[in-house]
Amino acid sequence: MDLNTPLIDIRGVGNALYSKFQILGINTVQDLLTNYPRKYQDYSNVEKIVDLTPGLVTIKGRIESVVSRYSRNRLHITEAVVADDSSKLSLVWFNQPYRANSIVKDSEYYISGEFGLHHQRMSIINPNIELVSDFPVNTARILPIYRETKGLTSVQIRKVIKNLLIYLQDVVESLPAWLIKDYDLYPLAKAIEIIHFPIDSLELKKARERIGFEELFDLSLASALNREQLGHYQAVPIKFDEKLTQELVAKLPFKLTDEQRIAIWQIILDIASDKPMNRLLEGDVGTGKTVAAAVVAAIAANAGFQVALLAPTEILARQHYQTIYQIFNSIGMGNKVGLLTGSMSNSQQKEIKNQIDSSEVDFIIGTHSILGEKINLSRLGLIIIDEQHRFGVKQRQALLNKTDHMPHLLSMTATPIPRSLQLTLFGDLDVSIIKSKPYTKLPIETKIISLNQRSEIYKSFVPKLKNGEQLFIVCPTITDSKVINIRSVEKVYKELSDGVYKDFKVGVLHGKLSSDESEKTMQAFIDNKINVLVATTIIEVGVNIVNATVIAIESPDRFGLAQIHQLRGRVGRNDKQGYCYLLLNENKPPTKRLLALENIYDGFELADLDLELRGPGVIYGTMQHGKIGFDLQIATLTDVPLMLKAKRAADQFILKKEKLLQYVQLNERVKRLRSITTLN
Ligand code: ADP
Ligand code: MG
Repeated sequence: MDLNTPLIDIRGVGNALYSKFQILGINTVQDLLTNYPRKYQDYSNVEKIVDLTPGLVTIKGRIESVVSRYSRNRLHITEAVVADDSSKLSLVWFNQPYRANSIVKDSEYYISGEFGLHHQRMSIINPNIELVSDFPVNTARILPIYRETKGLTSVQIRKVIKNLLIYLQDVVESLPAWLIKDYDLYPLAKAIEIIHFPIDSLELKKARERIGFEELFDLSLASALNREQLGHYQAVPIKFDEKLTQELVAKLPFKLTDEQRIAIWQIILDIASDKPMNRLLEGDVGTGKTVAAAVVAAIAANAGFQVALLAPTEILARQHYQTIYQIFNSIGMGNKVGLLTGSMSNSQQKEIKNQIDSSEVDFIIGTHSILGEKINLSRLGLIIIDEQHRFGVKQRQALLNKTDHMPHLLSMTATPIPRSLQLTLFGDLDVSIIKSKPYTKLPIETKIISLNQRSEIYKSFVPKLKNGEQLFIVCPTITDSKVINIRSVEKVYKELSDGVYKDFKVGVLHGKLSSDESEKTMQAFIDNKINVLVATTIIEVGVNIVNATVIAIESPDRFGLAQIHQLRGRVGRNDKQGYCYLLLNENKPPTKRLLALENIYDGFELADLDLELRGPGVIYGTMQHGKIGFDLQIATLTDVPLMLKAKRAADQFILKKEKLLQYVQLNERVKRLRSITTLN
């Protein structure tokens, strides 16, 4: 018998109970011991009967009498009287006929439950009751509340866990001894015992801290190791060219903001090193990230390196090309920039590939497919990735086939990543942040619209559309769902194109269309040949649509706050006031989350709020379009102080050149987390 023993072999667990545990994903002793309580109810304070006040109470007393009877409406009732040296009290159980036989008169019991007025009498209804001489698990202590399922309550779970305590001696310590000592942590076995059977709240706090610390330590160590691994690769240093930089910056039609300058300088320092840069440039849409990247790219290209800029869509690639061509052209480097996309004709593609081969073109802009093309990238010094946060280590290693060194990597994103996530999930990235916009843009006026104002609001856009302004409508899904009540792209398109907008061009855009179709639609919208675009969040990425002034978001509760913030950033460019309407799909008052959007215009603040209200999946999901892939039982990703502590410990672990293989559990967990967080 060991930690891997199936629960069925444990005393008190039969087939029925075992199958309930399995529903919760709990199969073995180890699974149950590490299934930590969701919360606790404090019944540890044992009181005299005379002192009781209504609420959750515990008493200790002798049972004087037990009787059973049926009520007028055929309810089975067990009634007992308990006495301590201060007074007596009545205990009542409904429909638990076994109680009468299991309670022993004159024995001393702990009784925990809710004390209150029932049928004009103070009593405790359906209390937990346990012999004082036993090891009480359901009374007189801080009671753990577990995830439950039908037929499996916390009361039962506690009884089973009590029978597992002997296995704690088999629990192997997962953290190094020095770490436990230096950080004053409980050993693992002790922490597990206390988490299930806490004696007092102080101990419990320390036990939870130990487990929570470990969860964050695993994450920190995973990203610290990813960072370290990257450091083993050679990059080619790209020297800072002061003269060129000054010349280029002077030719820009505007003055760079301080934040742009700082970001550019951080990148310049990074690429001058022989360690590969791994930097994230973060800032709302329109904060001038692309311009900053272009300055650095010019330095690299002028130093004889190739630069690749990868965009998520062809349209974005084309827009980047236009912007960057102009910037490069101002210092006579325009012909160094080339665009390569799948929709170009074969001969165009061939021409550009030739130019790349012959080093006429050194700055290649396109979609991710560039990396698969048969082009010579042996001098690739810098990769810039727009609107995708991760470029997995594997993807990066694949590039080593094309060059003999690791290129520097800059990714750019408009997703505000809360500091706590930066420390853990993104701990292997260096981050530059541009917070403020270079020009004063009017904040997008945001309003929540109730269901009965819906048609009114859509009608109110008609004059704007006649005026040449454009409207975005974003829906959470493509088609209607039978299960949840939301408005889909298809439904809204039909409703509006047959109805209030029948005199306008209405287009649809979503992920099920072929890339040809979506590119065409998007281009038509950019060219103002479509007045209204009904789409999924596919429009999220940084496309610039000059005449779009209004965005309507259907069933906004289905989106993350930061995501909506990004979406509304799409409208109101060009000095025109932008408007964002959040169209509720039910006759209910708006949630606290949505209300925040009316007043908060800081993406980071919104992301933090979302993290607090809905957990990390919201933010991580927005970025990766997927699940977060791991969960934390105890720690929260908003606990920045604990996170900093865990990060410090992880750095020490690496500094001490600890052998990870020596810590079996830690090694396994960290391996898994490394692959999740690098998207390999
Ligand atoms: P992002 O990539 O962060 O969305 P861009 O670099 O595309 O932002 O810049 C958005 C717009 O702001 C562009 O039209 C750009 O020319 C302009 N811009 C960038 N930096 C400045 C600045 N310092 N002053 C004025 N305008 C700027
Ligand atoms: Mg951009």
